[in-house]
Amino acid sequence: MSRLLPGIVIDRPGSSSDYLTSGWRYLRPVREGRTAPCALACPVGNDLPRILYLVERGRVEEAWRTLKRTNPFPSVCGRVCYRFCEAACNRGGFDEALAVRSVERFLGDLGRERGWRVQPGGETGYRVAVVGAGPAGLSCAYHLRLRGHGVVVFEAREREGGLLAWGMPEHHLPRSVLEGELSQLKEMGVVVKGGREVREREELAGYGAVVLATGRNPLPEGLAGGLVRRGEKVEADEWGRTGVKGVFVAGELAEGVGRGVAWAIGSGRRTAEGVDAFLRGEEPRRVPPSPVLGLEEVKLDYFTFSRRVGGPAGPGSEEEVRAEAGRCFSCGTCNGCDNCWILCPEGCIVKEGETEYRTDEDYCKGCGICAQECPRGVIRMVEEGA
Ligand SMILES: Cc1cc2nc3c(=O)[nH]c(=O)nc-3n(C[C@H](O)[C@H](O)[C@H](O)COP(=O)(O)OP(=O)(O)OC[C@H]3O[C@@H](n4cnc5c(N)ncnc54)[C@H](O)[C@@H]3O)c2cc1C
Ligand code: SF4
Ligand code: SF4
Ligand code: SF4
Repeated sequence: MSRLLPGIVIDRPGSSSDYLTSGWRYLRPVREGRTAPCALACPVGNDLPRILYLVERGRVEEAWRTLKRTNPFPSVCGRVCYRFCEAACNRGGFDEALAVRSVERFLGDLGRERGWRVQPGGETGYRVAVVGAGPAGLSCAYHLRLRGHGVVVFEAREREGGLLAWGMPEHHLPRSVLEGELSQLKEMGVVVKGGREVREREELAGYGAVVLATGRNPLPEGLAGGLVRRGEKVEADEWGRTGVKGVFVAGELAEGVGRGVAWAIGSGRRTAEGVDAFLRGEEPRRVPPSPVLGLEEVKLDYFTFSRRVGGPAGPGSEEEVRAEAGRCFSCGTCNGCDNCWILCPEGCIVKEGETEYRTDEDYCKGCGICAQECPRGVIRMVEEGA
């Protein structure tokens, strides 16, 4: 069903030409997608346009699985995160920013309610020691388990969770919510040893790598040896690699204090990538994000004003959450709206899947209408030969 022509089912758009283009076209459309500002702003790295796309269509388990690829704690972030995504949302410059955090909270809670599980990766035989069971250490442990590495987390206190467990009041983050997400980690094989303050690196001999995620607490001398300190932080690259081989840092110890839980979780994930590459004897690889799609590039004529569903508190029920997700512009990500397919005067766009289209370049004349009419900046015209 076309969104441009609601109620009308189009089998195949008509073609105004049966003529091959030959060699005279000088522009050609490419579909490469762009980065949504919300996704760039989310420190966890959540694929928000995709998640919102799935939620709108009621594919909530798929949306949950997509979210859990990056975030082990969606119910926690869905309550306490400072909402970097919403501050950056393009829709905020049009009417009201998407209630992304409410959507994340809904998915996290639904996953726990329905008992959905994430499977760890195939066992690699490596074992990693993580010091500190706050959000950074636990996120690192989760992402290491996804890659099949064994993980033991040492925690000085009896209970895990770090500042999530004792820094936040019950009304802000109910204990049962935290416990629910912690138990999912344990079911994946993350071992937490509570009441085990680590003071010397020698205590961790035998592990393939060590991750220090001790937060803002003083780092014992026996752990700090050889590390370069910058105030409360330890100097490290974006993968948490310190100058000492096999010793990594994550969370506030790597990023500095005051940035919040989502930063700690994102830092734990990047450090897990660094550890994984180290164990495999490889260099970690970062795919640079495509350029961000700003509001000025969204074709606003295709959208109508709408208020955030559920008011300031945001949406709560599945119905409300789906309606809210439907407000998303899907900045830079194809959502299968069919505009390009319908409006191409040559009828040379081939629909190959839900959000997959291909331009038949033998017939495309390079008029650029597809790029012009894509509401979300997915298509770009490039010079032939470029
Ligand atoms: C009162 C308060 C409220 C906050 N509210 C929010 C909020 O609403 N939203 C938000 O996004 N952020 C909030 N934050 C910030 C957030 O809690 C932190 O950014 C985040 O918890 C940092 O995570 P971390 O894992 O680096 O450190 P931590 O959460 O501090 O975890 C570090 C863990 O390491 C353990 N540890 C330390 N040394 C050792 C050792 N030698 N051996 C073994 N274990 C050790 C500690 O016991 C602790 O469990 C708040 C912070 C505070 C203080
Ligand atoms: S973790 Fe924070 S910034 Fe990321 S999607 Fe959730 S609420 Fe938004
Ligand atoms: S409209 Fe949707 S994709 Fe665009 S920034 Fe907002 S949440 Fe992200
Ligand atoms: S116009 Fe619609 S279908 Fe075509 S690329 Fe853009 S979002 Fe996808």
